[in-house]
Amino acid sequence: MIYLDNAATTKPFKQVTDVINRFYDELYFNPSSLYAPAYAVADEIEKTREFMQTYLGGGGKVYFTSCATESNTWVYNSGIKNKKGNVVVSMGEHASGYENAQTLISKGYDVRFVKLLSDGRIDESDFEKKVDANTAFVSVIHCSNETGAINDIQHLANIAKSISEKVLFHSDGVQALGKIPVNCNACGIDFYSMSAHKIGGAKGTGALWVRDGIRLNPLLPGGGQEKGFRSGTENAAGIAGFGEALKIHSRVDYDRIAELRQIMKNGLTKIVGVTVNESKNQSPYILSLSIEGIKSEILQRKLAEKGVLIGLGSACSSKLKKNRILSAMNRTMSHIEGSIRISFGASNINDDIKAATETIKETIQQLRG
Ligand code: PLP
Repeated sequence: MIYLDNAATTKPFKQVTDVINRFYDELYFNPSSLYAPAYAVADEIEKTREFMQTYLGGGGKVYFTSCATESNTWVYNSGIKNKKGNVVVSMGEHASGYENAQTLISKGYDVRFVKLLSDGRIDESDFEKKVDANTAFVSVIHCSNETGAINDIQHLANIAKSISEKVLFHSDGVQALGKIPVNCNACGIDFYSMSAHKIGGAKGTGALWVRDGIRLNPLLPGGGQEKGFRSGTENAAGIAGFGEALKIHSRVDYDRIAELRQIMKNGLTKIVGVTVNESKNQSPYILSLSIEGIKSEILQRKLAEKGVLIGLGSACSSKLKKNRILSAMNRTMSHIEGSIRISFGASNINDDIKAATETIKETIQQLRG
């Protein structure tokens, strides 16, 4: 099997499962309990928090959650100071951002969606028009889960803050963390959402970075875990595994992944009617393609039968018929119907990519008859 759907989820690193297993075999104590073995578990959580805070540039706290959907939901619901002002959200957000924006609309908020450029990045001139002195909350995805387009969140946060004094800036960093450098503190954002399972960690572990001095409302009331902001017994195994995954993933050779993407792109764009949905500022981890005359679901199924697993777009939205993000990039319906997402990961190697490229080429030819 050749797995090329790493933007949906990744295979956990062996070192990560070793760390996680230790928490089930030895370090299974409740981190809130008041005896030495439990303190050791609490220590591991704090060590991971400190590592991630340093990794993200300092100046903020990391709170652990159950997934990035939870982190996004928390910040959309509580990141608007005094619940007053308008909200500006990019059209390129993951469903977990977009649906929360819809909820804000149903609660009566003035939510303004910012257009995308045809290359998948946010349209900066539209952004400048939508943000005003009364903007309280902005959310712009760092790296698109659909196309891998990278937004310059530092630049956008600067623009937003120069227009509105009260604005708080959130970025969904799920497809960027451990893949492209980020310094949340230096880039002037206020919140950053993350997820372990996209970088070789375990599913069910997310995090939210919050700039020092900003107070969110507690997400879950109860026993006071996560400094009183997110009660519930911590997923100590997943959290320690998250830290380990980030350490390993941030050392993955960026140029090697870029080379894999280039091999696949060169091979597949030789086929007539194949276009790439890519940006001037592009993550090498994602290759989004539109294949004329092909229904992507059929191609995906045929490839799976041959042992090549690819995606159709974000796993969460692939069950929906339309593709909101490619539509916002002004792609036609036939373009959208033939769109696939190939996403690379740490374990992919050149030979597999070459073999998968040949299989994809051959399958497209078969489907076209
Ligand atoms: N944000 C982005 C950009 C994603 O790609 C995903 C998952 O596909 C999520 C959020 C949701 O992450 P989780 O599965 O941790 O809820």
